[in-house]
Amino acid sequence: MATALVDFDTVLATYDPALGLEVHVELNTATKMFCGCPAVFGGEPNSQVCPTCLGLPGAMPVVNGKAVESAIRIGLALNCSIAEWCRFARKNYFYPDMPKNFQTSQYDEPIAFDGWMDVDVDGETFRVEIERAHMEEDTGKSLHVGGATGRIHGADYSLVDYNRAGIPLIEIVTRPIVGAGEKAPLVARAYVQQLRDLILALGVSEARMDQGNLRADVNLSLSPKGSGVLGTRTETKNVNSFRSVERAVRFEMQRHAAVLDQGGSILQETRHWHEDTGRTTSGREKSDAEDYRYFPEPDLVPVAPSREWVEELRGTLPENPTTKRARLQGDWGFTDLEMRDVVAAGALLPIEQTVAAGAPPQAARKWWVAELARRANDAGVELAEVGVTPEQVAAVQALVDAGTINDKLARQVFDGLQAGEGTPGEIVAARGLAVVSDDGALGAAVDKAIEANPDVAQKIRDGKHAAAGALIGAVMKEMRGQADAGRVRELVLEKLA
Ligand SMILES: [Zn+2]
Repeated sequence: MATALVDFDTVLATYDPALGLEVHVELNTATKMFCGCPAVFGGEPNSQVCPTCLGLPGAMPVVNGKAVESAIRIGLALNCSIAEWCRFARKNYFYPDMPKNFQTSQYDEPIAFDGWMDVDVDGETFRVEIERAHMEEDTGKSLHVGGATGRIHGADYSLVDYNRAGIPLIEIVTRPIVGAGEKAPLVARAYVQQLRDLILALGVSEARMDQGNLRADVNLSLSPKGSGVLGTRTETKNVNSFRSVERAVRFEMQRHAAVLDQGGSILQETRHWHEDTGRTTSGREKSDAEDYRYFPEPDLVPVAPSREWVEELRGTLPENPTTKRARLQGDWGFTDLEMRDVVAAGALLPIEQTVAAGAPPQAARKWWVAELARRANDAGVELAEVGVTPEQVAAVQALVDAGTINDKLARQVFDGLQAGEGTPGEIVAARGLAVVSDDGALGAAVDKAIEANPDVAQKIRDGKHAAAGALIGAVMKEMRGQADAGRVRELVLEKLA
């Protein structure tokens, strides 16, 4: 039975939320974590496997040095300390898509620990403390066939693809984030957004949430307001968009409050997120002391990165995100408010890339924050998946700047881009979108507008030039928005002088 939710503002009157985020990042190394199999997305099922990643008896793993390097760079970028010596551990549990019956992970000796990241929400900075970032391997993928939901319940049979088994993962775990109050859902979203920007700037992962390169588990608990005691938490697994992270936190806050208000207690469990209904449902019960029988991995040597290497890697880090935001705001001449909207829309990176492709910053901002963010929101997808690239936005703006199209026609070009109709230039040609500035065609349309609106025409003859707008509007309508508005105005005034 669905629980009735408590109104969001009412939740905050009674409770303090505490967040925790566990983000898995799939590294873009050429090969897997412990074997030489290619670590690329897609491919025929079970075509990228070997005895090691299939967990066959006697196979020996070897650590991927590039993955260790990426892990250290991520740790440094998150202001973590880097372990001088650490080990892998076996996390024992059974799951059909995990061929070894244990996951090679790190337990009490993570490669990176005790870091932080500053997150901007509405111009306010929240420091998110990072407990650890550790290395592990991904599992394979189960495909449940025949059911209505794609989950195992109700399926006729299941298939397993081990191509993903053994792909290097970094799991980044925050400490409990308290004190965010009503902004908790936004802080969660902004953290994942900024973490993704950082991962992309480091170049260590494709970080595509729709392909599962970056997946967030969202922990949430409520405590009585002002008590300072952490409540029982739930863990919503594999939330795969920024928007869903925000919605999942909001939903769980409202659901927890409903249970607690009725005198019930929160079950410590994992939960599934449902994009369609915007709700979570119960997964499996989970205790803190879950017994995975961790023990040090006997087949792998410890990882002991030299301090020289760590310092060398520190030198390869991209610009600190906070410094970078301030620099870009200065370079672009955006106001604080404009910048806030850019960050909230997750549009910093696309705008940077659009400007790099030649567009003026304000035009890039206008398209990404107003037009494309709205389209992404309507479609329920992330900005990166809206179907228009930064290069295309720059090309559209170049057409506007050249006078070939206007802003209104540009929106139709975006329609074409989203529909996959080709380049902006091809779409303008195929859809016949170019602005008409030819005096012959415009003059005829202006004459028609004057004839149809004699009262307006008389006002203009009497010197009321402000009335010209009505005739320009009529011409634009006649020409389906494709008239050169400036030239139309000139023609109207000339003809009625
Ligand atoms: Zn392999």
